[in-house]
Amino acid sequence: MDKAALARALGSPAVLGQSQFAFMRGNAFEARVKAEGGAALLELLGVADPQAALVPDLAAAGPEGRAARTALALREATGAGAWTLLDHPMLALEVAGSPAYLEPDAVVVHPDGRWTVVEIKSFPMVDGSADPSKVGAAARQAAVYVLALEHVAAVTKDASVDHSVLLVCPKDFSNLPTASAVDVRKQLSVTRRQLARLTRVEEIASALPAELSFDMESRSPGDLASAVESVPSAYAPECLSACELAFHCRERARSAGAVEALGRAVRGELGGLSAVAEVLSAARGESGDPDDPAVAALRRAARLRAEALGAKAPDAAVRRPGCR
Ligand code: SF4
Repeated sequence: MDKAALARALGSPAVLGQSQFAFMRGNAFEARVKAEGGAALLELLGVADPQAALVPDLAAAGPEGRAARTALALREATGAGAWTLLDHPMLALEVAGSPAYLEPDAVVVHPDGRWTVVEIKSFPMVDGSADPSKVGAAARQAAVYVLALEHVAAVTKDASVDHSVLLVCPKDFSNLPTASAVDVRKQLSVTRRQLARLTRVEEIASALPAELSFDMESRSPGDLASAVESVPSAYAPECLSACELAFHCRERARSAGAVEALGRAVRGELGGLSAVAEVLSAARGESGDPDDPAVAALRRAARLRAEALGAKAPDAAVRRPGCR
């Protein structure tokens, strides 16, 4: 489904992605890197004569057609013995039993048949290094492209995929591009493990009511909200930067008093306590097993808080023996 459209229909539109300014700046930088047949980009790869590189046309109808066109271009380029730049190729990857289509910024085919994923980002690389969290996010993203490329390489003679991707960024706050090779082997194995563990879409669908529909044309916002509610979810603050339904799910989690709304780390610390009311009651000594480490920690925290505020502990029973 189109989750952004669903979020709008539910009255909780997503605010995801870059600001308009950052988006335009990123696009302008990418256009500069790829101008004149990707001359600047190919120079960063050490290509002596960028003008001689091949830049095949990858246009085709629909994502499926574009993925097939990309696979054909990769096969042709691998046998060509020349540098080839694939600008915005389309790759397919099976995720939970369904095809997902991915569009890297570029893939370069080396004359020896190696394929390198290129990620162009607008954050700066100062003195050869960039913000580690941004580089990490780019590496995770590029690892998925590498994985998708490996499926095409497996059926392409003499092809291999680089496990180092080329990260291209503006140099020292200028508009000039600079690049760094980023090893994505670790991200690749994590992504492989995560994909292998995903429940297949058909299995998820078979567990849902047969009449369930997210059809935004025919369903009212109320029906859509009920449909979303019938699908189990586990909201966490991390959803805010990754999922279009985050505001909707946050509202649901807050109104249900779910501890997930406080973050995964807090959720993990609280063990079997799943609601904020349950947590407060356990801290006050009104419920919960005193031998449960989470309950014991909550009571100790409540006592310390009360002491710090100069008040009495919420319940004498929460005091340790010998504690005045
Ligand atoms: S729980 Fe998080 S990931 Fe799942 S639908 Fe809600 S916001 Fe999206």
